[in-house]
This record gives sequence, C-alpha cells and structure tokens, in this order.
Amino acid sequence: MSSKKLTCLECGQLNRVPEDRLGASAKCGTCGAKLLPGKAVEVDLATLQKAARNDDLPLVVDFWAPWCGPCRMMAPEFSKAATELNGQARLVKLNTEQHQAAGQTYGIRGIPTMAAFAGGRERARQSGAMPAASIVNWVRGAI
Ligand SMILES: [Zn+2]
Repeated sequence: MSSKKLTCLECGQLNRVPEDRLGASAKCGTCGAKLLPGKAVEVDLATLQKAARNDDLPLVVDFWAPWCGPCRMMAPEFSKAATELNGQARLVKLNTEQHQAAGQTYGIRGIPTMAAFAGGRERARQSGAMPAASIVNWVRGAI
C-alpha cells in the first residue's frame, strides 16, 4: 500500500497517510488537525514552504492582505473552491502583511496572487480576483 506525504497545515508536521485512509477523517499524527480540512486554511511562510516542497497532493496558495479589497472579495470564492477541490488539491491562504518575507520569497508583485504547486514545483501563477468556478478550472488546469 503506497502512502502520501502531507504537511499538517496547523502544526507543520509532515505526515505519511496510507492512500486508502486519505479522506475527510485523516488527521495529523502530532496535533490531530484534519489533513484535508475541505476549506481554505491560513498558513505561515514556513508551513507553506514545507508543504509546497514535500506534499504529494497539489497545493494552491492565495497570497492576500487585509487591506486589499479584491482579496477580501475573493476570500469566500476561494473558500468555495477549496471545498469543491477537496481531495484533489489543498487550498491555503498566506497573509502577506503578517508574513512579509513571503512576498520576496515568492516574488509576489501584486495581490491577490494564486500559485499552484505540485510535485515540489510551482506549476502556475495567476493574479487578480476570480470567482469560485474560475478558480476551480484554473487549479484543475494547473495541476
Ligand atoms: Zn498537526
């Protein structure tokens, strides 16, 4: 039975989950948080980097900030997309105001910007707010 590597979005612990147990009930062995939360979760830069590098499930990041109107408009859409894509990709949010090194690390020029990671590499990047259906289509095309 093969297993998948997944970084816990709450505590940053790298988990190995048998493929047949990778469902809604899969939990982090360290902190007990759900590994597939089915919604967009806020992460810090260290967790983002670890998950982008190691995870066997695609990861999509929304770089945003509280002062950015289009970012706030997109938040519920991104969250809907996270629910729809549950099991195919994990969607996370990174607050670039709280984690200012992120902008430089990932070369973010404007927000909102989404980046999709799969197989340890960035596969696609998209700037500007989008509705949930467009986010879902873009993610499926990117991974
Ligand atoms: Zn955890």
